[in-house]
Amino acid sequence: SPDAAPMLGPNASLIGERDARSRLATPALLIDIETLDANLAKMQALCDRAGVALRPHAKAHKCPEIARRQLAAGATGICVATPGEAECFAEAGIDDILLTSTFATDSACRRVVAVMAQTRLVCVVDHPSIVATLGALATRAGIEAEVLIDVDLFRHRAGVASPRDAAELARVIEATEGVRLAGIQGYAGHLSHCREVGERRRGAEQARAMLSGMRDAIEDASGRKADWITGGSTGALLQEMEGVYTEFQCGSYALMDTEYAAVDPDGSGQPLFPPSLFLAAAVTSANHPGLATTDGGEKRLASKYGVPPRVMRGAPPGTEYRATSDEHGQLLLPEGEWVELGALVEVEVPHCDPTVNLFDHIHVVRGETLEAIWPIEARGC
Ligand code: PLP
Ligand code: MN
Repeated sequence: SPDAAPMLGPNASLIGERDARSRLATPALLIDIETLDANLAKMQALCDRAGVALRPHAKAHKCPEIARRQLAAGATGICVATPGEAECFAEAGIDDILLTSTFATDSACRRVVAVMAQTRLVCVVDHPSIVATLGALATRAGIEAEVLIDVDLFRHRAGVASPRDAAELARVIEATEGVRLAGIQGYAGHLSHCREVGERRRGAEQARAMLSGMRDAIEDASGRKADWITGGSTGALLQEMEGVYTEFQCGSYALMDTEYAAVDPDGSGQPLFPPSLFLAAAVTSANHPGLATTDGGEKRLASKYGVPPRVMRGAPPGTEYRATSDEHGQLLLPEGEWVELGALVEVEVPHCDPTVNLFDHIHVVRGETLEAIWPIEARGC
């Protein structure tokens, strides 16, 4: 509608144009739709073959349109990281959501239960005090809160720390009105970006042993079989696949990034998922040999490990990119090479999750055509 156009940003008028990709207002986040759809299909096929459900983590893209495509490809639901994301995706009509982070304030409990009253939202807990609060709020709302016990797989970020604590928490949940034990979450985040396959395999084995011990303790204490055990990351996928999990919650596979491109999935050197997400930046100054400046700086390229983004398009082979200042990036060109003032370059983003959080929109390209612009609705949530 005419009202919607301004909300799609300065490139709205280019939707449908066949040569729009090189004419975009920059800096702009791009998604290659063919690569995205191939990544979604590939991950779903890997999970199907392993007999594991897929519940992709939407914190990686924060975009309801991508979540809808994941569900259409066969995902059982989505994961979110914050109460704000749960609200946003529920509002967008996604009706099976798992909140994978623990929370502890009254305000967070209230927000979570309010969403639970509207749609299927399951949350994780790692302490009896939260169970009591959730139970009281849920009972007052006339609902039953479905909870998973979060177990700590050596990272000490969240989760019950021992099978004894897990059993105790299971008994508290069973005894509390308004809450229902739905399963277990165990996320071994320390393995996701571990570069060495052997180390990742040993870590996954150790995590598997811990997780199955926790599962046994929870099953004994609650008297029920845990038939929902969720966790897993894009990086450790092939090492975590066999064993205890009934559901995978990988996120980055859809978009990928330079930090994940450095993680060899199985030692073959062959990446499972190519990148679908890119930053398009324009050359804004080029007055020195071997150097050019762009409008894609630190404010547009988040990185956890300080990895420079890979140059994918629009610059000579061998060109390197540095997000050197807040607003500006720098192209380091090979000897004798140059780029034209005003030209667009595309780089792979260093870290997808925090980078999507820096933009209002994703520009959907198919070849050179701008096919659509998707709002990143959970940005800032
Ligand atoms: N589950 C949880 C709890 C996470 O924190 C994350 C990412 O940090 C994921 C799943 C998804 O991991 P990845 O993006 O590495 O696939
Ligand atoms: Mn990440």
